[in-house]
Amino acid sequence: MTTLEILNPATEQVVSSVDQTGVEGTDEAICRALAAGEKWRAVAPADRGRLLRAFAEAVDGAVEELAQLEVANSGHTITNARWEAGNVRDVLHYYAAGPERMFGRQIPVADGIDITFREPLGVVGVVVPWNFPMPIAGWGFAPALAAGNTVILKPAELTPLTALRLAELALQAGLPEGVFQVVPGKGSLVGQRLVDHPDVDKLVFTGSTAVGRAVMAGCAARVKPVTLELGGKSANVVFADADLEQAAATAPYGVFDNAGQDCCARSRILVQRSAYERFMGLLEPAVMGVVVGDPAEEKTEMGPLISAGQRDAVASYVPDDAPVAFRGGMPDGPGYWYPPTVLAPVSAQDRAVQEEIFGPVVVVLPFDDEDDAVRIANDSDYGLSGSIWTSDLGRALRVSRGIRAGNLSVNSHSSVRHQTPFGGYKQSGLGRELGPDALHPFTEVKNVFISTGG
Ligand code: NAP
Ligand code: MG
Repeated sequence: MTTLEILNPATEQVVSSVDQTGVEGTDEAICRALAAGEKWRAVAPADRGRLLRAFAEAVDGAVEELAQLEVANSGHTITNARWEAGNVRDVLHYYAAGPERMFGRQIPVADGIDITFREPLGVVGVVVPWNFPMPIAGWGFAPALAAGNTVILKPAELTPLTALRLAELALQAGLPEGVFQVVPGKGSLVGQRLVDHPDVDKLVFTGSTAVGRAVMAGCAARVKPVTLELGGKSANVVFADADLEQAAATAPYGVFDNAGQDCCARSRILVQRSAYERFMGLLEPAVMGVVVGDPAEEKTEMGPLISAGQRDAVASYVPDDAPVAFRGGMPDGPGYWYPPTVLAPVSAQDRAVQEEIFGPVVVVLPFDDEDDAVRIANDSDYGLSGSIWTSDLGRALRVSRGIRAGNLSVNSHSSVRHQTPFGGYKQSGLGRELGPDALHPFTEVKNVFISTGG
């Protein structure tokens, strides 16, 4: 078995080394998941709910430990990392109510009674990226488990540590062996095996659009259902009638949070032309004020990028002749740092305008009116999230309906609440996670007709 050294991206020091699973080990995990499924489905609904609540409580007891682990493994700020661990707890609590609410329907038909059942699919593979290792995993595994499936989670190669700890907490909480397994290893081996294996009944994939496309094609070969959460290039649309101070003060956090490694990053700021100069004047001090540094410190607002490779990829969008309007600071010394960077003026066809950068680089574009704003916002292959800043409620609603994206916020930059659906239009994904309906994609509907004879 090979091992992989896990680095702290803020220091480049080795945090630990993790044994890598290969194809054979993945097959063994699938075997265990199949066997455990029979037991898991037989657990009474109330007991399954109770076990998920116990898992949530175990996560709650470990929030600080998980958060510290994420700071060390992923360079997330400690404040973010605490929220992320708390999100796993909250999502488990939310879906713990699911097993007792897996309602079917009674449908009026002639000559009998017709009822539907929601039944688990079987084994669910959850493949996650490195940018939010804990929450994204929880959005897959919590509803999948609640719906009666067993789960195999493949963390990103770079960020397996919190996932491995979550698997221990699940066992400690009393989930039967094999119900929730974490299998660290390469996407091309473990992830691909979950796609190809006939006994994996569904794939939940979060990651890049390129790999997501391949995962979907692989699933097609077995007509395997797949949920995809992919990339984004979201617009932050600022109208002249908005509270410009507030819009400018928050815009950096709408894109530079998690060092821009956020699928919902508002990485295109669109500003109404009549307010453009004033907005840029307000944006500059806000960007310079972003506290970049040691992610373990409470005051830090932005940490490093995940890897040297990611830093190089981000830097490629800012060549020497790039139109840098202004740029924040970053620490010297080791670590994969990149400063918050604002590019303007840019043309609509620039690579930095069209492609997901997944780092702390934002472009600013002017627009003329409402129609122009919607047109530019929709000029993207992606459609994940976005923000609209205006004091006109009618305009807020018109623009919200006009933008083709799954998660919009008005006078705010929040995209994620576990109570509400999350997912993308266009090449940002397929299907929705979270919210009241997220159990359904983890079930088959079975219809049974009972003749009343005569
Ligand atoms: P990625 O390269 O697509 O990898 C995502 C996951 O897929 C990793 O676990 C990876 O394993 C695995 N993988 C790679 N090849 C595979 C294959 N052939 N079959 C199955 N799995 C495979 O993405 P990333 O670079 O880690 O993450 C960044 C991307 O994720 C961005 O585009 C971002 O927008 C997107 N994202 C989307 C959302 C959302 O909810 N929409 C949320 C977060 C991130 P390895 O680690 O071994 O490569
Ligand atoms: Mg990758």
